Amino acid sequence: MNARQLPLPDTSALPDAIERASLVNADLHSHSTVSDGLLEPREVVTRAAAHGVELFSLTDHDEVSGQDAAADAAALLSLPFVPGVEISVTWASTTIHVVGLGIDPHHPPLQRALEQVRSGRAERAQRMADELAAAGIVDAYEGALRFVRNPDLISRTHFARYLVESGYCRDVRDVFKRYLVAGKPGYVPHQWAALSDAVGWIRAAGGVAVLAHPGRYRVGDLKLSELVREFKEAGGTALEVVTSNHSAQQIQQFAKMALAMELEASRGSDFHGPEEAENVELGAVPLLPAGLTPVWHRFL
Ligand code: AMP
Ligand code: MN
Ligand code: MN
Ligand code: MN
Repeated sequence: MNARQLPLPDTSALPDAIERASLVNADLHSHSTVSDGLLEPREVVTRAAAHGVELFSLTDHDEVSGQDAAADAAALLSLPFVPGVEISVTWASTTIHVVGLGIDPHHPPLQRALEQVRSGRAERAQRMADELAAAGIVDAYEGALRFVRNPDLISRTHFARYLVESGYCRDVRDVFKRYLVAGKPGYVPHQWAALSDAVGWIRAAGGVAVLAHPGRYRVGDLKLSELVREFKEAGGTALEVVTSNHSAQQIQQFAKMALAMELEASRGSDFHGPEEAENVELGAVPLLPAGLTPVWHRFL
């Protein structure tokens, strides 16, 4: 048989698989009480299944201790589950979030690295409370702690809930306009992980790195391109094109950027809980625009 008679490889299977993957209701960004979410890991999983999510990842901030409970709950419901994490990073003086998907949550170097990232949170929280006290808001540390379920992970969200509960602010959105952000009372600059370290930890733990909610970073277009380029150079795989706080226009903007930069695309609600008005429901974000490679083709 000469080469001409060999059957051609069937390449049609690949694009079809990618297209089919795009239509899966994947929610690859969410939080539980292990970080700043309102539901326990297993409750988040149950809720995801109930809302039609077909592929799910719990991505708590700087913490993987909810992964086993989430995986067990997902297995009971036959909901395909992707172990995840959302790592806090400081890049060019800006806080950036990098989601890791498909990690081994038991990987010791990843666990040690995350412990290190979390370690400054208690002291930072104390300083935030001092700043708030100077602005006339007393007992904020104790107030925030009442909302904390994981003592290793006190976050601005817990302060925000206290400020709402005690009537200083209307809702969490109002808090992040008037407090806890640069230039406002209660803001304490913090040094998180380096971008290349965070991407490296995720990859070493067998995962892929996703640049979370790129539309949220208050840097100019030029800086944003620089960030995406550095993220890719560090070994990053995907941009979170669809997330609850992206407008339709931002979804198009980041779809274009993913294509131009040859990055895959992710989709996630960034769900924190059912009771906070600004939170969208699990699985209830737009589908990825056509033509992108969904990062979750790797997990199907
Ligand atoms: P931290 O890791 O302590 O700096 O807290 C960051 C968390 O605060 C984010 O993961 C969000 O849950 C919440 N957050 C930050 N900015 C906003 C915002 N503008 N609106 C609502 N929540 C926000
Ligand atoms: Mn959060
Ligand atoms: Mn985030
Ligand atoms: Mn998040």
